[in-house]
Amino acid sequence: MVIIMTPDASRENIAEVIKAVESVGLEGKIMEGSQQKIIGVIGDKTKLASVAVDALPGVESSVAISKSYKLASREFHPQSSIIDVDGIKIGGDEPVVMAGPCAVESREQLFEAADIVKSFGAQFLRGGAYKPRTSPYSFQGLEVVGLKYLAEARERTGLKIVTEVTTVEGIAPVAEYADMLQIGARNMQNFGLLKEVGKCKKPILLKRGLAATIDEWLNAAEYIMNEGNPNVVLCERGIRTYETYTRNTLDLSAVAAIKHLSHLPIIVDPSHGTGKWRMVKPMAFAAIAAGADGLMTEVHPNPAKALSDGPQSLTPENFKELMEGVKKLSKFMRDENMIFVG
Ligand code: PEP
Ligand code: MN
Repeated sequence: MVIIMTPDASRENIAEVIKAVESVGLEGKIMEGSQQKIIGVIGDKTKLASVAVDALPGVESSVAISKSYKLASREFHPQSSIIDVDGIKIGGDEPVVMAGPCAVESREQLFEAADIVKSFGAQFLRGGAYKPRTSPYSFQGLEVVGLKYLAEARERTGLKIVTEVTTVEGIAPVAEYADMLQIGARNMQNFGLLKEVGKCKKPILLKRGLAATIDEWLNAAEYIMNEGNPNVVLCERGIRTYETYTRNTLDLSAVAAIKHLSHLPIIVDPSHGTGKWRMVKPMAFAAIAAGADGLMTEVHPNPAKALSDGPQSLTPENFKELMEGVKKLSKFMRDENMIFVG
């Protein structure tokens, strides 16, 4: 952290700031500019939490230099992490694809979707049993019945199950049936929920909040990791901007940013990211080209009949084309050594 003094700060003001910094076991170094003096603080800045340096006389402002998250940062953990979800490795050589309907609607619908995504090579079946819908009158999900169908679909296909948990009370049932717990965009800063999933043993898929910065997103991951769960995978799913043509603006630059800032794997969801099925395939290819470790896409046996997110859901045929392209593209990137890390 650096503390910037006002141009008219006195020697006494500076001495008082240094004293405050030293009182918590840190070192303060004075740097003289032509107009102003600044004080560089050396040591763990969290120790300064008890000192309101900005309130001391002669202080203009203070600026944090190091990041507020640690466990999630690449500085702390230079090696890229590979998250193993019951044998499926996320962050390894092969992109991992999580696909399925937005919501579990019935046993038949889910089984049909599971068979489709399995046959074209996905590793995970997705499907919401608890749906955080914008309107309270929209379909809210089948809840525990939906979780049971998901577990049955795993038995049937061998696919791993990822599904959203929306409440602290929901963690135990979701963890009982699913292989990976999803924290949705709307809950990315639900700190109570993040702490509780941090205590659970299952890997977590942490979606980026609708209006979250990359820093806030990595701090959300830190909440989970700080409770003892290191198995976090990030998912970019688009953010709110002034653009209304697409449902969200898919921020693919976040993939490169996360690879630099963090060791955690990152996947991309072009379905929620665009809201339009026509855009899912090109954005999926772009995500893989940008270095994403995988994809999450919505696939429905009959998107026109979907109870939620039909307009962004792929038909079986479209999903097949997406998977064929992803396989070719990721092989090309591996063969050409186009792997972007750090
Ligand atoms: C979902 O993946 O089912 C979902 C609701 O997505 P998001 O939280 O990204 O809106
Ligand atoms: Mn959806």
